[in-house]
Amino acid sequence: RRQVWILANPPSGPIQPDTFRLEEAALPEVKDGEVLIQVDYLSNDPAQRGMIQAGADPKRAYRPPLTAGQPMGGTAVGKVLASKSQKYAAGDVVTGRFGWTDYDVIPDSQIDGRAVSLASRMRRSPPLGMTSVTAYQGIFDILNVKPEHVVVISGAAGAVGSVAVQLAKKVVGAKRVVGIAGGKEKCDWVVSLGADACVDYKSPTFGADLKTALQDDDVDRYFDNVGGVVFDTLLTVMRTKSKIGVCGQISSYNGVVTPFPRFGEVIKNRLTIEGFLVLDFLKEWPAAVADLAKWVKEGKLSTTESETVVDASLADVPEVWQRLFKGENRGKLVTKIAH
Ligand code: NDP
Repeated sequence: RRQVWILANPPSGPIQPDTFRLEEAALPEVKDGEVLIQVDYLSNDPAQRGMIQAGADPKRAYRPPLTAGQPMGGTAVGKVLASKSQKYAAGDVVTGRFGWTDYDVIPDSQIDGRAVSLASRMRRSPPLGMTSVTAYQGIFDILNVKPEHVVVISGAAGAVGSVAVQLAKKVVGAKRVVGIAGGKEKCDWVVSLGADACVDYKSPTFGADLKTALQDDDVDRYFDNVGGVVFDTLLTVMRTKSKIGVCGQISSYNGVVTPFPRFGEVIKNRLTIEGFLVLDFLKEWPAAVADLAKWVKEGKLSTTESETVVDASLADVPEVWQRLFKGENRGKLVTKIAH
């Protein structure tokens, strides 16, 4: 038998105790082209919140939203225990979108590939994972960060942000790189990664602290991972004709609506705002991973403490995922499932 988390009540606000329910189900027999898989590691991604939004319009979503009664899913790494597939054999470690379950029987088409390198993307070497490729896309492709730029990165202690900080400072050598994160401890870590300064957005003096960290200079490039009040505050320090890359808006994912009273700055200072998705970067992905791997070797990208791995039972999976929204992770948040 297996256990699987089901989306019971799609939320429009904060996640509730009855948003998900854990169900037991019989494991089906493995048929031709299928494998029995043990799910070992789950990637925790803020985007999974978007997948379960109540009343989401499928035409406006970049991935089909889940509806009530469907199994909750996400990127995962697992081991093939039994196989009737031509492509995968028992013992293979594979990655794909397996979801919040301990065991599953799936068609081999649901597997992205063997995880020799992919597992290492999520596990042994998170700098080579999806969130790092997102940071790469934002810094190089969208924001085109140059050595003469003053750069601000929010969510700077998270998976995407912590890599973006290192790329901007240690790879590009941008003039000034300022991180934004929740709390002193995280900010100290962001500075240890190379940022010139890091500002705690939870402080009541955030606006003034940001100006101090910028040494009263203006910002050429803002890498936005959080939206909300932080985004609105940044609008007031952007240089004329500068650019904001919108990667994420985590502050709004659980239904919090922030007005942007200073949006007029976009007109006054002729700002460019560009949203982007790593899914549009698949063609460039292998080259990005090769560059990231090179920079890891050269010591420009840190692999130490760049992830938070939580040992958990399947019952704890939704709680661990919600830590993303409470800021209880540093770097990539990974769940290791006990069997
Ligand atoms: P993180 O590792 O950054 O984890 C989320 C972090 O967000 C938390 O640790 C917390 O840090 C911060 N946070 C939570 N709530 C708030 C809030 N209300 N205001 C400000 N910060 C908050 O996650 P990822 O690196 O996986 O993702 C970061 C962002 O990038 C997300 O918005 C995500 O949706 C987006 N993303 C976009 C992709 C794309 O293709 N465009 C791909 C991957 C991710 P703290 O303690 O500092 O508050």
